[in-house]
Amino acid sequence: MDYYSRQISKLIQELSALPGIGSKSAQRLAFHILNMPTEQVEGLASAIVDAKKNVRYCKECFTLTDEELCPICRDKARNHKVIMVVENSRDLAAYEKTQKYDGVYHVLHGAISPMLGIGPGDIRLKELMQRLQQDVDEVIIATNSSLEGETTAMYISKLIKPTGIKVTRIASGVPVGGDLEYIDEVTLLRALEGRTEL
Ligand code: ZN
Repeated sequence: MDYYSRQISKLIQELSALPGIGSKSAQRLAFHILNMPTEQVEGLASAIVDAKKNVRYCKECFTLTDEELCPICRDKARNHKVIMVVENSRDLAAYEKTQKYDGVYHVLHGAISPMLGIGPGDIRLKELMQRLQQDVDEVIIATNSSLEGETTAMYISKLIKPTGIKVTRIASGVPVGGDLEYIDEVTLLRALEGRTEL
């Protein structure tokens, strides 16, 4: 990248550090940005900085939000007695897109993986158990169907069982190892409707 001046190289280098952006894409993006009107570039830069500064975890469900409570937890029309457990905020967004789920969520921010050294204490499980002290009818476990997702589902169901709260798992219509966010809405909905009690 010596063909470019220092600041251009720096921009390309920062962009290529992003996931899914190879050096060719980074160069294309860099030159695209340099050709954009100044105000637009400033808008992009401040959107990144503002989001990073203000986004935090919802104090109820732990999804990423820029307020104390996310819009879903704040929504009184939703059923707060049904909690869907997902691995991350992107999975939550995938279910929201179906517009058919009216319960609330709990975002774990990961899954148990003995291989990667991620244990129950490394995800938001304790916080889930605390939430279950309130009046809850059902916990729907919607972790991915990967080995980690299944391990996590088993672990959570064992943990909740003694409380007497109904625990269900989404149907395995979801392809094994499939990331929830890449699955279409119809499949997601079918998986949700076909959930079985654990
Ligand atoms: Zn929330």
